[in-house]
Amino acid sequence: MDTEPSVCCSCGACCTTFRITLPRVDLASRPGGWVPDHLTEPYTPTTACMRDNPDVPGRCIALEGAIGTQVRCTIYAQRPAACRDFAPLSALGMGDDACDEARRRHGLRPLGGL
Ligand code: SF4
Ligand code: SF4
Repeated sequence: MDTEPSVCCSCGACCTTFRITLPRVDLASRPGGWVPDHLTEPYTPTTACMRDNPDVPGRCIALEGAIGTQVRCTIYAQRPAACRDFAPLSALGMGDDACDEARRRHGLRPLGGL
């Protein structure tokens, strides 16, 4: 999910489709880091990943709301770089291959690109 005030607010498909990984140096407990440690788990020796919602495997624990209706990232200002960089034109209503694939998997119309 790239930006909140956009089509993403009524989507959230990517946040419940892809594993979100991050370098451990980006964890808030590290100098200069920002991603809340308690919402992550170890992935590789040098990376972590966002934990799953315990009730919905594959769905990021930080996501609130209903996919395709209204959603919110509860750590928006502290979300991993991978989330910030995902489908950067979605705020303009334009997706990319990954965004479109996530939306398809959840029965949503792909945004399409340029
Ligand atoms: S799948 Fe695309 S439109 Fe949906 S939340 Fe992610 S970036 Fe936004
Ligand atoms: S941290 Fe936020 S933007 Fe990133 S996958 Fe989780 S809910 Fe989505």
